Amino acid sequence: MAEKLGVYVCGGCGLAEAVDLDAVCTAVKNKYQPQCPVIKTHPVLCSPEGKAAIEADIAEAGLDGVCLCACSPRSKWDVFAFGDTVQVERVNLREQGVWSFDKETGVVEMAKGINDLQLICNEYALMGVVKLTKSNIPNPEVAETFKTILVLGGGWTGLNAANAAASLGYEVVLVEKSDTLGGKVVNFYKTFPLSHPYTEAHETGLDKLISQVNASKKVTIFTGTSLEKFSGAPGQYKALLSNGQTLDVGSMVLATGWDAGDTKYLAPLGYGEIKNVITTAELEKMAKGGSITRPSDGKAPRSVAFLLNTAACSTVACPSDVVMECDAAADAPQNPPAEAAAEGEAAGPAPFCDLESQRHLALSSEISTLVALKQANYVVEKDPEAVAFIFYDHMMVPGINERYYKAAQDKPGIMLSKAEIKSVKSGSGGSVIISMENTLLGESIEIEADLVVLPTALVPTTAHSPVVNLEYRQGLAFPDLNLFEGYADSNYICFPYETRRTGIYAAGAVRQPMGLALSADDAMGAALKAIQCVSSANKGVAVHPRSGDRSYPVFNFVRCTQCKRCTEECPFGALDDDPKGTPMPNPTRCRRCGTCMGACPERVISFDNYNIDMIGSMIREMQVPPKMDVGGPRVLILACENDAYPALDMASLRGKSWSSYVRVIPVRCLGSVNAIWVADAMSKGIDGVMLLGCKYGDDYQCHFVKGSELCNRRKENISESLKRLGVEPERVDQLQVAIDEYDVVPGMIDQFMDMIVKMGPNPFKGY
Ligand code: SF4
Ligand code: SF4
Repeated sequence: MAEKLGVYVCGGCGLAEAVDLDAVCTAVKNKYQPQCPVIKTHPVLCSPEGKAAIEADIAEAGLDGVCLCACSPRSKWDVFAFGDTVQVERVNLREQGVWSFDKETGVVEMAKGINDLQLICNEYALMGVVKLTKSNIPNPEVAETFKTILVLGGGWTGLNAANAAASLGYEVVLVEKSDTLGGKVVNFYKTFPLSHPYTEAHETGLDKLISQVNASKKVTIFTGTSLEKFSGAPGQYKALLSNGQTLDVGSMVLATGWDAGDTKYLAPLGYGEIKNVITTAELEKMAKGGSITRPSDGKAPRSVAFLLNTAACSTVACPSDVVMECDAAADAPQNPPAEAAAEGEAAGPAPFCDLESQRHLALSSEISTLVALKQANYVVEKDPEAVAFIFYDHMMVPGINERYYKAAQDKPGIMLSKAEIKSVKSGSGGSVIISMENTLLGESIEIEADLVVLPTALVPTTAHSPVVNLEYRQGLAFPDLNLFEGYADSNYICFPYETRRTGIYAAGAVRQPMGLALSADDAMGAALKAIQCVSSANKGVAVHPRSGDRSYPVFNFVRCTQCKRCTEECPFGALDDDPKGTPMPNPTRCRRCGTCMGACPERVISFDNYNIDMIGSMIREMQVPPKMDVGGPRVLILACENDAYPALDMASLRGKSWSSYVRVIPVRCLGSVNAIWVADAMSKGIDGVMLLGCKYGDDYQCHFVKGSELCNRRKENISESLKRLGVEPERVDQLQVAIDEYDVVPGMIDQFMDMIVKMGPNPFKGY
């Protein structure tokens, strides 16, 4: 606990002109003087002179904590650092005090004595001081850790990951379940372009990559081997292999790739029914073998049609690879029409469309487009007289691949057109007749092709089996996404390689459909994350999003009732439990989100520098006027420091203001909000509580995946309790805000405040 504090109030950035800095000092002196031997102002605290003055006081007065009342903790954090033995608390007087003070209403009210910028700054300063007095410097236990990186999967991505980690000096164990390295790429004739000028397909370079990995002294390779069990925690994992060996490893790159999707979804386009309708994988194999032929008669086709149309719902303009919602799914018949099936017709409008087929679509991507372009080139390369057609819903060639598309457009023998496929039928002599509408020609057309080629979905290997066989209380497999079943769930926006099992980083097509170039980049990214993880575990600090955080949850087991809420709600499976249900923490799995602290009804979980008492004490520093019409209402905002708090800062920086009756306290995640804070606030007479955090649901943005969703569930319980006490449940609300919604967040606050004013004072006010 910080015991000798220095409190500094900055006069820069317009603060001295807006508030009486000495009055802020006096407020702190009146309450905390014994613990604060130094309380002073400085004209510009972040100047070299300002920093030097603080350093001199630390040395002379032996300060173990400094409370800097100045700008947001999000700025100048590199300036205001004073070593590992001095705790620093930043009081945000600039962005969330002076700069966001309402220059019209607020100033008028201030003149009437019912609002006061000075009061706001004084309160925030007191909150900062009390926060420091409740904080200790975290002292992580550092266990012995292993630094070997396990790469699971010896295909293109796994080989690149192994190469990357080994080239950075790390020992790597590469485990591949088949007998040879190379994965699916072994069967590729060519890849679409990976380098300048991005106009021609070329050899994959797989042989060279395999040779490099084979030659590396840092890489130990096990082929014909699978991972039977993966137990432990980052830096301390044990991998039991199918060959009976147990390996000590620090972290893992998951590169187990993809499997081809079920071809039953291609039935509406004739697959399985018409012999000369084949998949891209079948065509690739033929090309690699030397010649492309028709299955029906072994003849070389003179015309080949690639259909990049959403197989299961051909009339639906499905928005590409990420199908979040599909209106047609609700309207379309759930089964293939019986009459169409009876006539042997392969395709009709939306022959079936259900969630499963949507999933098929979700697992497709621009890869389908690029593979079709590549294979259309094979057709004309093998026979310059042949014609390749590509019919598509969406030509998806993001980024530099646009060049490859343009090169194909210019190539004689390749024809491209948007089209809605209406039917695919057998023609004479083994041909296939494709009827389509809404083509680029503006008319319905019918094409007779010698061969039709269809893409299949890329399904992550994690969709079919646990793959890693985790020994976690939460199960063998990764928690997955609701809609895109099979992909390991994490925060895709901010942390693409993350899984919800700390220390395991997914790369390549097991993470998202992608080609060789992106997979190689992904492999490098995931390898770096795996290295960062073993390095963090070795120092006892957190991996991102709280990279470098030395704190970890401490449990006071004496008061634990074994209710298991913490073990069940931890989004990262960091807590095991003993047979009685007492939590057993795995510190290196923990991301320090505080969700367990928010969950615990007994309030027995705390962090050295973040705990129930700390935030409770800050709430108690809020001054609540006994009557709303005298000093105005009061609202507490518990703001997630990942999105909501920065959004408020950015709003202020852009000249926006919001009601000055609110006080903002940052929290690690809304998941860490314990109901007792809300109860404390309401019983103190605070008129409303806003829980301001990330979006939740299928397209969540929570950095800790489930935190804001769990908070919402807890809020429902709080609402019930408020109702029982005769308090309007609307006084406590959770609002969702993304970091870039700084333009709307002030309006959200003001709207909430208007509602509170209309509702009148909290019935507990004055008690
Ligand atoms: S809920 Fe968060 S802080 Fe608690 S154990 Fe799990 S990861 Fe760690
Ligand atoms: S939530 Fe609290 S009381 Fe319940 S098991 Fe966890 S530590 Fe114990």
